[in-house]
Amino acid sequence: MNRTGLSQREAADRLARYGPNALPEQPPEPLWRRFLRQFRSPLIYILLFALLVELALWLYEGRQGTPFEALAILTILLFNAGLGVWQERRAENALARLRALAAPQVWVLREGVLTRISSQQLVPGDLVRLEAGERIPADGLLVEGQGLMVDESVLTGESLPVDKGPGEEVLAGTLALRGTGWIELTRTGSHSAMGRLAQMLGSIRMEKTPLERRLDVFGHQVARWVGLLALALLLGILLVEGPAHFSKAFLFTVALAVAAVPEGLPAVLTLALALGVERMAGRKAVVRRLSAVEALGSVTVIATDKTGTLTQNQMEVRATDLPDLLRGHRAMALASDAEPGSPVGDPLELALLEHLRKAGMDVQALRQAHPRLSSRPFDSAWKYMRVTVKEADQAVSYLKGAPEVLLARCQLEPHERALWQEKIEAYARQGHRLLAFAWGPGEGEDRLTWLGLALLWDPPRPEVPEAIRRAQAAGIRVLMITGDHPATALAVAQQVGIPGQRVLTGEDIEGHTPEELQQALREVNVFARVSPEHKLHLVNLLKAQGEIVAMTGDGINDAPALKRADVGVAMGQRGSDVSREVADLVLLDDNFATIVNAVEEGRNIYENIRSFIRFLFSTNVALVLLVAGGVIGAALLGLRDATGALLVPLTAVQLLWINIIADGPPALALSLDRHPEVMRRPPYDPRQPLLDRFSLTFILGTGVVKAGLGLALLALLPLYQLAPVAVRSALFLYESLAQLLFAQPSRLTTSRPSGNPILLLILLASAGLQILTVTLEPLRAALGLTSLPWPAWGLVGAALLLSWAFAMLFVAWLRRHNSVQARAHPLR
Ligand code: ADP
Ligand code: MG
Repeated sequence: MNRTGLSQREAADRLARYGPNALPEQPPEPLWRRFLRQFRSPLIYILLFALLVELALWLYEGRQGTPFEALAILTILLFNAGLGVWQERRAENALARLRALAAPQVWVLREGVLTRISSQQLVPGDLVRLEAGERIPADGLLVEGQGLMVDESVLTGESLPVDKGPGEEVLAGTLALRGTGWIELTRTGSHSAMGRLAQMLGSIRMEKTPLERRLDVFGHQVARWVGLLALALLLGILLVEGPAHFSKAFLFTVALAVAAVPEGLPAVLTLALALGVERMAGRKAVVRRLSAVEALGSVTVIATDKTGTLTQNQMEVRATDLPDLLRGHRAMALASDAEPGSPVGDPLELALLEHLRKAGMDVQALRQAHPRLSSRPFDSAWKYMRVTVKEADQAVSYLKGAPEVLLARCQLEPHERALWQEKIEAYARQGHRLLAFAWGPGEGEDRLTWLGLALLWDPPRPEVPEAIRRAQAAGIRVLMITGDHPATALAVAQQVGIPGQRVLTGEDIEGHTPEELQQALREVNVFARVSPEHKLHLVNLLKAQGEIVAMTGDGINDAPALKRADVGVAMGQRGSDVSREVADLVLLDDNFATIVNAVEEGRNIYENIRSFIRFLFSTNVALVLLVAGGVIGAALLGLRDATGALLVPLTAVQLLWINIIADGPPALALSLDRHPEVMRRPPYDPRQPLLDRFSLTFILGTGVVKAGLGLALLALLPLYQLAPVAVRSALFLYESLAQLLFAQPSRLTTSRPSGNPILLLILLASAGLQILTVTLEPLRAALGLTSLPWPAWGLVGAALLLSWAFAMLFVAWLRRHNSVQARAHPLR
């Protein structure tokens, strides 16, 4: 095999010629089409209809003056659509960056150096190193291979794996189940077998999260009720007024309906999720399914691997206990898939090779002198591997694996066996990761000769103990599930702060009745010598106990457990492509602490969603009550405008303005909040409604107060001889400014976020804009407002002060009750 690969220049040339190793992307949707799509909503249809009615009336009445109302509705519609497009773009860009992060990486030989690149950069002629668990990135020929077995079921539907020897073709998208090899690529991108496959594997799934679906349902309900209310109001006005003022009444009820529905919510929600997911990616946790974000906020158990997740996976041979050193070293060199001098491979095997190098052994030469005849690859299901080689014209086998497993396959005197058993226990209790070696004639795997042990040291990651403490403070249990020896597992558990003295092994799991297991699961935090099936079993048991489980896994056989878990977590660096494909979350740094960070982000997003929902709904409640109350009052008192139509508190355009232009930007800014205290609380119960008692109280309370004070203004202002337009202007100013005052309280109801300067800026800018609406002539004209005399400013100011005082007291009261409740239900 040519051992240099392509030159960087040649690779770049070919990349330009053949294109990236990816399927052609869908051309992006043109801007105008996106923009138009924003109008596809029943509410907007109603508004468009209203706009048409307005324009028709204006034309019909002889085109007098400028049609301000129609223009204002149009502006609001355009603003809304523009905001929608912008939010969509931001959300999509965020997801596109995620997709790039989640793209598979491969080892390729270029200019004689093994480098790790994104599989999209591959070109025909590249030499790619293949490891068990990887998807084959492009079509190619196997130039060198050791026991390579490929699952081609994605292409052929044939589920039995196929053996591949040198010279045979391997196809893009198929899966290397076992063994290793080198392939020389022949076809990439859409010319490869992948191109013939309809769906690209490993894409990020975009679907509605449970929360979004719940909100959709809720939104429809609100819309229905509001529709009914508007209809009733319209009929009522018609009954009282007769058809003379139909067009005005119609327009007004439409606006009320629109004002009562939080239009901004879906867009703000999508953006909040997308930005949150991007922030998670910044902290090395890539979400592959948006709904995992919510599940993350609710996780009650994190079941994690030990090796590489809690520990550094940077192994080092601390010592060996090999009575027959020569044979022992031979086993170490031959029963291994790692290549000397290469960074690719199992860190454990690399550590062994490094040890041999230091001992002065030429592994390459030894392997050449003893060619491999057959092998059984390592699998965590059986926990050892065998390599049969030619030695002095005879076939002999070398095995390496978990000590108890190999000990059971060896022939030893009883006292020697007991001695080794004691040694194994003692070494493992010190926290060593142990490997045993054995050998025997032929291809036998039984009645072997015991060779001894290697003691490896895999230090815990320094940030893990703190991460475990944070998880525990957040009401999350951390379980260690490992294939390693029970004593090693326990020693590491103690080093990182996982409590408990008991270990449950895979054998125990098989031996116990379901009831016993359920009981044991409540106390035991460390599980050792487990196989992937046991993992699946454990997930099922935990879920049956009502836990929300995040589970890590790296092997091909871990896929079922990852799928079953509420949040399946795969490793971005080591681990199989299959595990990444089924996972909800991929850790770019393979680090346990990253899971805890992702949980924190998940909870943070959830908290933000709650605060902007409170903020938006508070306006909707206030507007509906205000308008309904005002119209009823006007009808009772016989208040009419110059044309004789019933006086309504706010016009269609004004309602829309408050709901969309005044409310939208602060709601967006609320989604940027950070809540340090989320990690000092129990997980969110997914069965609980999104809006707890306090949030509902907040929405209703603030809504009622804003409507009440508005109605009071409506009653008081005419006493100062103000014209109806001026009264309305004062009311508009009050409602839009009061809403801004409630942004701060809405974020404090259930949490204590850190400062949010952007929110502050947006609130100030919005307040300025609102003041301009009654002071700047063009805006005044568009919104049907007029300048305010001093008494009106005074009254509005007083009402604002009252609202503010109320908001502060109300929130303080809510928080007190909230913390009393929290104390009554402490962490589990
Ligand atoms: P974990 O990675 O959680 O320790 P594994 O199932 O990968 O669990 O490994 C189980 C045991 O198998 C290890 O404790 C070790 O003794 C042995 N083992 C691990 N990797 C290899 C390998 N490449 N070859 C032989 N034995 C191995
Ligand atoms: Mg492992």
